[in-house]
Formats: sequence, structure tokens, C-alpha cells
Amino acid sequence: MARTKLQLQRFWFQSGFFLLFILAPPLDLLRYDLTQGHFFFLGMNWTLGIDGLISGEISPLEAAMNIIFIGFLPIALTAAGLIWIAWKFGRLYCGWLCPHFSVVEMINKLMIRASGKHSIWEKKPIPELQADGSYIKPDKRFWLVTVLAALFFAFIWALSFLTYLLPPFEIYSNLINWELTGNQARFLGVGTLLLFIEFMFARHLFCRFGCAVGLFQSLAWMGNNRALVVGFDKQQANLCSSCNNACDNICPMRLKPRTIKRKMFTCTECAQCISACEQVQAAQPSAPLSWVTDADAIVVATDKPAKSTDPKQSCTALNEPCSAQRPCQETGG
Ligand code: SF4
Ligand code: SF4
Repeated sequence: MARTKLQLQRFWFQSGFFLLFILAPPLDLLRYDLTQGHFFFLGMNWTLGIDGLISGEISPLEAAMNIIFIGFLPIALTAAGLIWIAWKFGRLYCGWLCPHFSVVEMINKLMIRASGKHSIWEKKPIPELQADGSYIKPDKRFWLVTVLAALFFAFIWALSFLTYLLPPFEIYSNLINWELTGNQARFLGVGTLLLFIEFMFARHLFCRFGCAVGLFQSLAWMGNNRALVVGFDKQQANLCSSCNNACDNICPMRLKPRTIKRKMFTCTECAQCISACEQVQAAQPSAPLSWVTDADAIVVATDKPAKSTDPKQSCTALNEPCSAQRPCQETGG
């Protein structure tokens, strides 16, 4: 299916972050070295100086400052930043950066090619007609590509995990020269197998319930009724009669984007539903699905119009009948 401009942007964000995920250990951008017992961060040794305290090189006060300013504060600030972004914009990290979600989407697409379904657990295939007007006819030969892709990415993930824990150049050199130690080979073998099983059979399950990063983003997002959310303009609902539910068909998290926010708890803000809707309704001035915030987001979150404390706020914005207190700005009535 052809990518819209927004989906192309998302593709580049996801690809860039996937590359960063693989390159962070060899570039010492972020990794924990089990052999040295400390983190590397942005090319520097990230240590709390406990060894210095034990050997008497630094005072207990300096050690306490290290723990607060080098250990606790950066982690707390990063977590707070992520939670704030999720509170305001939802699971943007999942839909636009996460290297696991990139694999989820890629395997979904290959499974659709092979079977017409996003996962083996779905009962019915999605329609062959895509939002851009093209057709995808399931072809069983794509199963081989699907399995090989899942295996390849499981191996890349397992290998990357290993380099987050042991010196990356030693691992890559051992791998190229077939000199991995027993433990390294076992880690790679077991990791690849487990990840392969997860990618093939439980990738959506992990994103929905297994990932703490995703769960905390969803919880923060649900706490803000004004946050960015996919909204459905009910005034344009009649347009859907000419569509085969393209938004439902394309959602990689298998959500129904025309519903209320509570039922989209795991939405990753990937906007695939919005892009599909725009493609289907390309001839219309606007599509029924779009990202909304503030008062419009409250309608999606509560299924009720927003209550305004501003007595002069327009009835149109609030989706309420006109009254003397809420005059209609357009007509003045
Ligand atoms: S509802 Fe839309 S934005 Fe949310 S995960 Fe599904 S396709 Fe992506
Ligand atoms: S919201 Fe858009 S994509 Fe979804 S069914 Fe209606 S027209 Fe189709």
C-alpha cells in the first residue's frame, strides 16, 4: 500500500531509531558493561564513584551527591519527560520510535500478504481492497518470507541485547570469527528462539499488556482528557458507507479507531487509521478521522461535549444548543 507523507515521516523516524537501538552499544551511547560493572552513557563512563568511596578517594558527602546528581536525577528527569510527552500526546514513543513496534508492523504486513490477516489469531481476513485502491491477494508463499523475517529480526534483537551487556566489539568479533563463548552462544540461541516465538505469536499481546513502557504511557495518557487522540467526526459518518472500514482494517493494534478513548487504551498514535481515511476520502474536503486535542479530545474521552467555564464560548465549539449564555459565533444567534 502506498505511504502517505505522514506515514513516510514515521517510517524514517522508526528506521532511524532502530539503527540507534543497534548502534548505541558499539558507539558507547548507552550500555551496561557486565565486565566493568558500570554504565556507558554518551561515550562517558557512567559510574556513581562507589569504588572511590570504598578506597577513600572521595568523601561520603561526594558519594551521596554522585548518587543524587549522576544516578537518580538523570533517570528521574528522563522518566518525567517521557511521562509528560505521553500525558500530552499519548504513546508517541510506541508508534514513532519503538524498535519492537517497527517489527510488529513489519510482521503484520507480511502476514497480511501471506494470509490476509494481521496475526494467526484473527478469525477473519481483512478485505483485499486497500485504502489506496490497490488489492492484496493472500499468497501462501509469503509465509516463508514472514518466518525468515521474524527469525532475522529475532537474531538482530538478541545480538543487540547481548551488546548492551558485554563489550560490543568483543561480541561482534567473536561472532564473525565463530569464536563465541558457550554462554554467549547460548544467550544468542535462546534469545533468538524466544524472540522469534514472540514476534510470530505474541507481538500484539506484548505491546498491549507486557511492556511497562507502553503501559505507563497509556496510563498517563488516560489521565488527560485533552490529550492528542484519534477523533471521529460524527457529522461526516455518512462518508463511511462508501468505505470498507479501512481504518479498522489497517490498525496494527487491532483497535476500532471510531470508538471512545477508553476502548483505544493501547493506541500508539501511529495514525495509520487517519492516513487510510484520508486516502479513502481523498476526493472530500476533509476526512472523518483526524487527530484532535482539547475540547474535541474531551468528546472522544468522555463521549460528552466539553464543559466550558467560559460563558461566552461558542455553542459550535462545545457542540451544544445555542442560548443567550452560549451564542453561536457564526450566526450571532
Ligand atoms: S487507532 Fe489509529 S493511531 Fe491508534 S494504533 Fe490504531 S491505527 Fe494507530
Ligand atoms: S472513518 Fe474513514 S476510514 Fe474509517 S470507515 Fe469511515 S471513511 Fe472509512
